[in-house]
Amino acid sequence: MSTEEEIKEVFGHIKNLMMAHKEIGMEPPPVSKEMLGYMEREVSEVPPYPGQSDYPDSLEGLREVLGDCKRCKLHKSRKKLVFGEGSPRARLVFVGEGPGREEDLAGRPFVGEAGELLTRIIERGMGLTREDVYICNVVKCRPPGNRDPERDEIEACLPFLRQQINIIRPEVICTLGRISTQELLKREIKITRERGKWYSFMDIPLMPTYHPAYIVRNPSRERELKGQVWEDVKKIMRHLGLEVKKND
Ligand code: URA
Repeated sequence: MSTEEEIKEVFGHIKNLMMAHKEIGMEPPPVSKEMLGYMEREVSEVPPYPGQSDYPDSLEGLREVLGDCKRCKLHKSRKKLVFGEGSPRARLVFVGEGPGREEDLAGRPFVGEAGELLTRIIERGMGLTREDVYICNVVKCRPPGNRDPERDEIEACLPFLRQQINIIRPEVICTLGRISTQELLKREIKITRERGKWYSFMDIPLMPTYHPAYIVRNPSRERELKGQVWEDVKKIMRHLGLEVKKND
């Protein structure tokens, strides 16, 4: 990361902290009007993230560059590459870990059991459709046996995720689970500790929450985990100006 990028990340963190404070009704800090104005600028006014200029600036173009990808060993066992899907103008991008069995067969993200849960969160919880948002993963090909993606696989794929986000420039990124949160925040994390808090990636507010597969795998804690995810999703909805029903 260049010094300029680091400074932008730091400003992004401060901005997100201020947003979180505003959400809970705290007064703004004693800084000049100009500074406040800068901090409250719309994300879309922030210039594009530098350093990816050699990548196409459309999702179709980026998909073409990815092609019949053999950049890492995952290509050997995959059936279909899962690029991601949804609106190129999405205000919200969900980032998962990597395709599972169903996704590998379909070539589409989050279409298995965990995907059904994510779809319910988007549709019933947020009142949106899958076409309104964008859904993608850290790695685009299925790790065999659903193991965690390995470092070399992640490194080969990450530039494409970064450019997907750079092209869409959503207002919020929601990372699902530890792996995607870790890769975008560039440090090791515990999802139980970091979920539900605002962070920043490329100056874009980022909210980590549990991976839907984690809920599916823990039926005895379903109520508790779903409740926590719903708390996180409500923060995202408020940030996007979406109506959160009083009793929810
Ligand atoms: N889990 C993920 O992380 N991504 C998918 O697309 C499906 C399941």
